[in-house]
Amino acid sequence: MLQQIMTAPGKIEFREIPVPEINSNQVLIKIKEIGICGSDIHVYHGKHPFTSYPVTQGHEASGEIVKVGSEVTNFKEGQKVTIQPQVVCEKCYPCRHGKYNLCEELKVMGFQTTGVASHYFAVDVEKVTALPEGMTLEEGAMIEPLAVAVHGVKQAGDVHGLNIIVLGAGPIGNLVAQTAKGMGAAAVMITDVSDLRLQKARECGIDYCINTNEKDLGEAIIEAFGPDKADIIYDCAGNNITMGQAIKYARKGSTIILVAVFAGMATIDLAVANDHELDIKSTMMYRNEDYIDGIKLVNEKKVQLLPLLSKKFPFKEYLQAYQYIDNNREATMKVMIEVQED
Ligand SMILES: [Zn+2]
Ligand SMILES: [Zn+2]
Repeated sequence: MLQQIMTAPGKIEFREIPVPEINSNQVLIKIKEIGICGSDIHVYHGKHPFTSYPVTQGHEASGEIVKVGSEVTNFKEGQKVTIQPQVVCEKCYPCRHGKYNLCEELKVMGFQTTGVASHYFAVDVEKVTALPEGMTLEEGAMIEPLAVAVHGVKQAGDVHGLNIIVLGAGPIGNLVAQTAKGMGAAAVMITDVSDLRLQKARECGIDYCINTNEKDLGEAIIEAFGPDKADIIYDCAGNNITMGQAIKYARKGSTIILVAVFAGMATIDLAVANDHELDIKSTMMYRNEDYIDGIKLVNEKKVQLLPLLSKKFPFKEYLQAYQYIDNNREATMKVMIEVQED
């Protein structure tokens, strides 16, 4: 079978290796679709702080089980599945307290350990989640980013009846906005500087889609939510501008949740955050319950994934997929690799 390897930033090779053997507690998955996300692009550009080369990429995947280990009872051949890419120690404090997404020794497939970008992938059964019959493989490969959104939204507790602002309308921002609505938020505003991304958010049913280059955010918030402004602000862009907006426009005593990965050191006004008693929280990846809740939201048609799919490339065109993303930054939501043996 073929396996993708990034040997150095920007250099992708494919090597022929044997189909992996599975142990009694594993399943063998025929990989079908792999989503590319911002972190993969950082690896491609040599700008991911915690990844060394060579590395086989791929952490957002769907596929079909082709073999099950002798002790596996809850999966069968032919089943459509997705994978949770976290490898954890099970011994540290967070692991012992159910928060394995915060494992002190966390390794993520495609970054610090082998990713799924290959024809077949052997994986421990506890990292596998079944996809419903009616779900497409493209949707299946987007459950991982959806789980990021679900886990992020949950950091606010119950969002039922709340007014929400999401800063940044890329794939994660879009999914956070949809998830908040799906979990019962009263109204959701999303902001960006890209009309295309805002158009996608509108297509997905977000109530207020604001281009902050054209409209003053402070005014937009008062127009949409009145003087009480929003209850929660999610920063899904993660830069000084959006975090600055969050601190400036948050209602006193309200909550800001940093969902995006902040690139570099922040320059933000913590004096205002302090004076306004803002609750600033963050979120890291997800746990299995977030996969389950994400799948449920899609099944109940409360979250739409397919409008986010921008373009697909065949397995051998991994490099072209990255080049396409680089050349179409603002116009791109989710690019996917379709894995086929040929
Ligand atoms: Zn990702
Ligand atoms: Zn651990």
